[in-house]
Amino acid sequence: MKVLTEYNLTDLQEELTSSGFEHYRARQILKWVYSKFVFDFDLMTDLPKDMRRTLKETFRVHTLDTVDRVTAPDSVKYLFRTRDGHLIETVLIKERDHLTLCVSTQIGCAVGCTFCATALDGLIRNLRTSEIVDQYLKVAEDIGGRIRNVVFMGMGEPLANYENLRKAVEIMVSPWGINLSKRRVTVSTSGILSQIRRMMEDDVLKDINLAVSINATTQRLRESIMPLTKTNTLKDLMDLLKRYPLRPYRRITLEYVLIKDLNDSEEDALRLARLIGKHKKRFKVNLIPFNPDPNLPYERPPMDRVLRFQKVLWERGISTFVRFSKGVDVFGACGQLRSRRPVVRSLNHEEPAQVGDGAGCNSLSGPPDKGDSRSGL
Ligand code: SAH
Ligand code: SF4
Repeated sequence: MKVLTEYNLTDLQEELTSSGFEHYRARQILKWVYSKFVFDFDLMTDLPKDMRRTLKETFRVHTLDTVDRVTAPDSVKYLFRTRDGHLIETVLIKERDHLTLCVSTQIGCAVGCTFCATALDGLIRNLRTSEIVDQYLKVAEDIGGRIRNVVFMGMGEPLANYENLRKAVEIMVSPWGINLSKRRVTVSTSGILSQIRRMMEDDVLKDINLAVSINATTQRLRESIMPLTKTNTLKDLMDLLKRYPLRPYRRITLEYVLIKDLNDSEEDALRLARLIGKHKKRFKVNLIPFNPDPNLPYERPPMDRVLRFQKVLWERGISTFVRFSKGVDVFGACGQLRSRRPVVRSLNHEEPAQVGDGAGCNSLSGPPDKGDSRSGL
């Protein structure tokens, strides 16, 4: 059977006309699937009956089966199974006034960051376009409506699966597809320079948000915790990001996982400010306090240290937010996604509910001078 969610509009038009159907039927079908979340061809009432029958025999929409779903106060983790039996995770995050979906792009990851649970399995395989898109469709079907924001911050390195990511984003942001605003889609990367350069010229990807995981302020530390960065160096990365074309009022997010006694000192914060230099309006910083995992050798810094780091940056005019992971209690937070993890059923809510308005697998806290600091770590 063919998979409908592998097709963009042009490909589907070609496919249908070569089977003797009218060109315009493609838009009708995609509207049912991506605007109305109707996946049963029998219910597509503006299509002729014989066409519905043919479609049913030729195409399927879903590529994932829902294995489990774990609900916490401010997030829901979905565990999906691919047709070839792998498990992938998708996290729905409830923000103050909207929903954000944190989507996976690979099964495992080859980048090998030493603080990330996804890296523990190495790369198993890339997800297909349809498997990326279906994470959105399955969750939309489950909750009975649209999700406004999508962040590619789940399992895997999105830019190492460039073509499939690109087509999935095309389906998500096109008027004939899910029709999300490009401002509400964010790709997070560990910083593969050749692929960021490719994004700069790419019609589909150039206007979506870019988030880059910096995580260390010296080349030496960075390459020791993010092996990929031996060749994709910090200096070359910052040089490239300073030239990355941005639309007015848009910023690049620098993500920084704060790990106790490793990269959480005031000197680190000062070095980060120096790396940004005079380009303060071009970047914002998201500090992510490390999410622990029994298989990882690190700890989360105490709250006062997190806030101190944030303050150093604010004092230098750099917008800096602390993003407390939602989904920590369902093991769905950044760096905790791992395909073979058993689903945790008894929830232990150590963290208070956090409000936030940004994209990401975490929630957002404001600057320290606004009295918005959080407790509960
Ligand atoms: N591969 C991409 C996107 C997925 S990881 C990337 O690395 O950017 C999404 C974010 O989670 C990254 O910023 C990463 O640095 C962060 N992360 C990884 N492991 C983490 C952990 N254990 N605790 C907190 N954040 C983590
Ligand atoms: Fe891969 Fe991102 Fe995890 Fe690094 S942090 S191993 S790039 S998923």
